[in-house]
Amino acid sequence: MNLSAPAHIANYIGGNLQAPINGKYIDNINPATGEVYSQTPDSDLADVEAAFLAAKSAYGAWSLTTTEERFKILNKIAELIDDNLDALALAETNDNGKPLWLSKKVDIPRASSNFRFFATGIMHFSTDSHHMEDKAINYTLRQPIGVVGCISPWNLPLYLFTWKIAPALAAGNCVVAKPSEVTPMTAYLLSIICQEAGLPAGVLNIIHGTGPGCGSAIVAHPQIKAISFTGSTRAGRDIAATAAPMFKKLSLELGGKNPNIIFADCNWSKMIATTIQSSFSNQGQICLCGSRILVEESIYDRFKEEFIARAKKLTVGDPLDDNTRQGAVVSKLHFDKVLGCIELAKEEGGTILLGGGAVKGTGRCEDGLFIAPTIIEGLGASCRTNMEEIFGPVVTLQSFKTEEEALQLANTSDYGLSATIWTQDVSRANRVAAKVHSGIIWVNCWLLRDLRTPFGGFKNSGVGREGGWEALRFFTEPKNVCIEL
Ligand code: NAD
Repeated sequence: MNLSAPAHIANYIGGNLQAPINGKYIDNINPATGEVYSQTPDSDLADVEAAFLAAKSAYGAWSLTTTEERFKILNKIAELIDDNLDALALAETNDNGKPLWLSKKVDIPRASSNFRFFATGIMHFSTDSHHMEDKAINYTLRQPIGVVGCISPWNLPLYLFTWKIAPALAAGNCVVAKPSEVTPMTAYLLSIICQEAGLPAGVLNIIHGTGPGCGSAIVAHPQIKAISFTGSTRAGRDIAATAAPMFKKLSLELGGKNPNIIFADCNWSKMIATTIQSSFSNQGQICLCGSRILVEESIYDRFKEEFIARAKKLTVGDPLDDNTRQGAVVSKLHFDKVLGCIELAKEEGGTILLGGGAVKGTGRCEDGLFIAPTIIEGLGASCRTNMEEIFGPVVTLQSFKTEEEALQLANTSDYGLSATIWTQDVSRANRVAAKVHSGIIWVNCWLLRDLRTPFGGFKNSGVGREGGWEALRFFTEPKNVCIEL
C-alpha cells in the first residue's frame, strides 16, 4: 500500500479512485511552508450524483451484512490506520500545520479508535421492548437509513471524518462523505485503506471539493436521507435551511466559545498546566478550546502572571520539529481572520497581555502562517471578542467575585458546546455543572473523552448528539412493531 501524498488527489467512488468529472482542481497548500504540494478535486453535482448512485447500488447488500461481517471490515480499517500511523500523521501535519507529534499522538490514533469503537459497538447495540401486560408486546427495530451524507471540517481532519463515517457504516448505511477542501489528504489516504481492507465497492464514497461546490449538493440531494455535519455555525444554518423542507435527519456539531471557569480552591498546578492546553492546543483550533477564561478575583493576578509566563514559553514554528508546541494555523484565509479578530479586540478596548500578531517562521517555514499565543484582558462579557468564535490561539481573561457572577459570565454566549470547571468543592462542581448551558462539562480536566458519552452542544453549537449509542441511533430509523398476544 502506497500512502504517500499524490500530486493529484482522487475521488473515491464505487470503489475506484477517479478524477473529478469536470477535470477541475484546487491548490492544496502546506500552511507551515506556503508550498502548493498537491491538487484537490473541485468536484461538483455530477460527482455527488455518481457517488450517490454507487452508494445506492451497494446499499442492498451492505445493509444485509451481518454485524459480525461489518465488525471485521471496520476493525481491519482500524488496524490499517494503526499500521500506517507515520504516513498518515505526516499527511495530516502537512495539510493542517499541526505539530507532527500531535498528529501521531492524538489525531491518527483517534481515527483508528473511532473505527474500532463502532465496529465493536454495533456488535453490542440493542433496542427496547415494551410489554403491555398480557395484551401485546412492542419491540423497536432499528434499521439503517439508506444513503447518508457526512461532512467534516479541517481542524481535526481524519479524527472527525472517521467519527461520522464509522458509526454510519457500522449501522449498515452507505455513505457519501466530504472532508474539508482545506485538509483533504488523509481522507484520500483512507480511500486506499478501505480498498485494502476489503470494504465493498460503493459502501463508502469520498468526494473532494468545496462547501458550495459539492457539500451543498450532498445536502440538497433528495435521496440522501440524513446529514451528519461538523463545521461552522454559519454553514450549519445553511444546511438546516436546505435539509428541513425535505425532513432529513440532521446532526449538526457547530462552533463554540467555551468558558473555562477557575475557582480559587482549584488544584493549581493541574489547572494551570491544563489551561495552557485548553487554550492553545492545535493552535486553539479545537471547537472545545476554552477561549473565555473566567478567574475568581482573589487569584486573578497570580493566574495572569503565571499563565502569561507559561504561554510565553510555547515554541511556535516548524510542525516537524519535536520541540514545537504550536504549529501553523490552517490557511491564509483563517490566518487573516484570526489577526482581524485580534485587531477587533484592540478596537474594543482590550489589552494585549501576550502575543497579538504573526510570528515569522524560519528556514523552510519562512512563508508559514504562524500566530503567537495571544492573551487579552479588559473586555466585557458581551463584546464581539467575547461573543464570536475566533478559533485560533487567542484567549480572553475575565474575573468574577461570586459563583453567580461566574455562571452569568459563562452563560453570556450564543454558543453552548463545552465548559471546564476548576474547583475542589464537589458540591459546587455539581451545582455549576448543572447550571452552565453547555452540552459537555469537564470538571478538573479538559478533553478527557470517553467515546460512549453524548457529544454535542446547546444553542448555536448545534443540534443532536454524537458518540456511543447516540450515533448509532442517529444512523438508524426506529420502527415500533406491536404484536397482540
Ligand atoms: P466550515 O463550516 O467552513 O466547513 C466545514 C465543512 O463543511 C467543510 O467540509 C466545508 O467544505 C463544508 N461546507 C461549508 N459550507 C457548506 C454548505 N453550505 N453545505 C455543505 N457543506 C458545506 O467549517 P470549518 O472552517 O471547516 O471548521 C471550523 C468550524 O468547525 C468552527 O466553527 C468549529 O467550531 C467547528 N467545529 C465544531 C466541532 C464540534 O464538534 N462541534 C468540531 C470541530 C470543528
